[in-house]
Amino acid sequence: MAYEAVIGLECHVQLRTRSKMFCDCPAEFGAEPNSNVCPVCLGLPGALPRPNRAAVEAALRLALAVEGTVHPESVFARKNYFYPDMPKNYQITQYDRPLCEGGSLPVMIEGAERRFGLVRIHLEEDTGKSFHPERSGDRPVSRLDFNRAGVPLLELVTEPVFRAPAECSAFLTVLRRLVRWLGICEGSMEKGHLRCDANVSLRPVGAAAFGVKTELKNLNSIKGVERGLAAEIARQRSVLAAGGRLEQATLLYDTERDRLAVMRSKEYAHDYRYFPDPDLPVLRVSPAWLESLRSGLPELPWARAARFVAGFGLPAYDAGLLCEQRELADYYEELVEAGAPAKSASNWVMTEMLRHLKEQGLSVRQWRDKVRAPWFAHIIAQVESAQVTAFGGKSVLDEVMRTGADPDSIFVKRGTKVLNSTEELRPLVLEVLDEHRGVVGEVLRGRTRAFEFLVGQVMKKSRGQAVPQVVQELLHSELARRGGRPPGLRPKADRGPGS
Ligand SMILES: [Zn+2]
Repeated sequence: MAYEAVIGLECHVQLRTRSKMFCDCPAEFGAEPNSNVCPVCLGLPGALPRPNRAAVEAALRLALAVEGTVHPESVFARKNYFYPDMPKNYQITQYDRPLCEGGSLPVMIEGAERRFGLVRIHLEEDTGKSFHPERSGDRPVSRLDFNRAGVPLLELVTEPVFRAPAECSAFLTVLRRLVRWLGICEGSMEKGHLRCDANVSLRPVGAAAFGVKTELKNLNSIKGVERGLAAEIARQRSVLAAGGRLEQATLLYDTERDRLAVMRSKEYAHDYRYFPDPDLPVLRVSPAWLESLRSGLPELPWARAARFVAGFGLPAYDAGLLCEQRELADYYEELVEAGAPAKSASNWVMTEMLRHLKEQGLSVRQWRDKVRAPWFAHIIAQVESAQVTAFGGKSVLDEVMRTGADPDSIFVKRGTKVLNSTEELRPLVLEVLDEHRGVVGEVLRGRTRAFEFLVGQVMKKSRGQAVPQVVQELLHSELARRGGRPPGLRPKADRGPGS
């Protein structure tokens, strides 16, 4: 029998606010253990929580971005459980009356846009963190850090809309980009800013009813989600194929070993005894508040990519890549506004700029401080109008990166221009042939590599100003004069050599 997978995701987004969800303690990361705590987040008797307006606004911004239905009234509830890392033994969350329901996230899958439906988005608080087992002298101990207790979290639950692990990783990539784009979360799964659990079941293709589902936890990277799901789908498939029965269970995926381990089997659903938190009033969102947030929302990444395609004539691939980060899309638009032709600007950003960022570990902002948009646009325009060769343009860009100097001063200092006449270039070619007689011999024996080396030497002598095509033609005709046509070498241009 053929089976299909049915997958739903539950994502936790740690909101980037200054203070915690229900108290004034800093929500920062990496402080001295148990230094950012107070009676509220430690759950001491009599302490009273107060909701953080910035966290509510962050959740509302996400809700608006995915076009969910924001409820004018929602309720904070207590989820009761034994929490080793939460001394009050309940978590404040939202239950039957969440902040937002519905909405969807548009995701490009194999060149087509699909919208994955959401069940809800609600607000809650994070728990503390436990470290165990550790040792104190000869005793095993667990240590607890309550700095994270009470940090604002947003929970986003999808409909069971995914049929393949790759769809889930595409969805998470888009969600991560969105929360960063909105500035509400740093979005690193590895650092736990964005966490994800997945529900997965199999059913015969064409069946409407769902099969028995299992829950995967501890998926701490986007690749891990994809691989964990693939492993669990394979496991369920083999159980069913052998005529076995699946049991509801919670599984942990070990990314390192690509292995699943049963954390607990769920014979019955947990009863958390939810009830409205009597310490917190109903959360009211007025139409005016919502409207002001809506008008402050930035242009969303998918809308921006569509505008880059329609307005600048960019291929969808370029537009998608440029809109990976809001700062990158902003910078690209600055280049075009400063006069760089749209498609060449996109090429320069995607190749030269992204390469520099990667090699030097720079952020877009750091790059922008060094290479101001009008400067970069000027270099691109100079190359585009054939005032400078692409090679020369790149080397000027390198120098701007290194020195922070204005490209015009570099152009003036270098006397940068295009050398494309054979009269100007022939002396350089002859010098290079003189200096590298051994290499010339290799070229005449048919070694293409050696020929490329000679081209590079002439380019270097011209300080990047020579047009490579003219150099190739000149070299070729000179070599042909010396030893007959070198085998395997053809001039790349249509024009004959030496014309
Ligand atoms: Zn506190």
